Amino acid sequence: MKAQVLVVGSANADLVVATERRPGAGETVLGGDTVTLPGGKGANTAVAAARLGADVALLGALGDDGHGRLLLDSLSGAGVRTELVRIVDRPTGVAYITVTPDGENSILVSPGANLALEPADVDSALDGARVVVASLETPLPTVEHAIAAGAAKGVLTVLNLSPVAKVADSALAALDVLVVNEHEAAWLLGAESAEFSRLLELGPRSAVVTVGARGAVVVTSDGLTEVASPKVDAVDTTGAGDAFAGALATALAQGDSVADAARRAVRVAAMSVTRRGAQPSYPSASELQ
Ligand code: ADP
Repeated sequence: MKAQVLVVGSANADLVVATERRPGAGETVLGGDTVTLPGGKGANTAVAAARLGADVALLGALGDDGHGRLLLDSLSGAGVRTELVRIVDRPTGVAYITVTPDGENSILVSPGANLALEPADVDSALDGARVVVASLETPLPTVEHAIAAGAAKGVLTVLNLSPVAKVADSALAALDVLVVNEHEAAWLLGAESAEFSRLLELGPRSAVVTVGARGAVVVTSDGLTEVASPKVDAVDTTGAGDAFAGALATALAQGDSVADAARRAVRVAAMSVTRRGAQPSYPSASELQ
């Protein structure tokens, strides 16, 4: 049976420019040509899951503009179901991304249409899903409702808490899997050298901390499991965390444990950083083998 995944999240046009270094405040730096790519945490997560063979729908919002059409084409081209994507009267979200020669990126997001996604949009969308995965470029009340309503319907709930924000305690308590990177974990725990096991004190049943080139750390009530990443030459880490979330959700929907799902997710994310862009870099199930 196909993995039934509902992604609640953003869809943005990524405007990517390569630069030797980032401009500081008040400074102008000349970079390379602008490359326009489909992105946004929700769309990326959905595309990553669809490439791996999941039956995945995106609940999201786009503007009636060229960037919106780029997103719709990319989503349907990857096999993501788009009937839950609303077209609204705001510009499609845009992420302004700079990439330096070391492969690191920095990102400014203009959410636009993504802000139109409302809690009421979530309820019927959950029907038939085995896993719901949300991220935070969409309004917090919508994300919190997706987790609460998903849990109430017996859907496995995953929150990629990125960009990190204060989420209601009740939503965290209803959460099955919290996914964060090291910086987000430190923010949540209020400490520089974060003790990841304490993430469970916030409420979720389990947590997965992505630790870049090192892979991920899985936290359950049984303790910590380190999941090593394959060694790769990273050229662009844009969307690596979203690839990880999409692969994790797919594996969970197929019945994997959180640790097994994280083992699959690090392989998918590692392959994604060896290629440019977010969605265009995501591997198919057959490529992974
Ligand atoms: P984010 O991209 O959200 O900041 P990370 O940097 O932790 O999060 O990356 C997410 C995942 O992408 C990691 O868990 C890892 O699987 C993969 N990844 C990121 N950077 C690399 C790298 N240099 N080499 C291999 N895998 C990487």
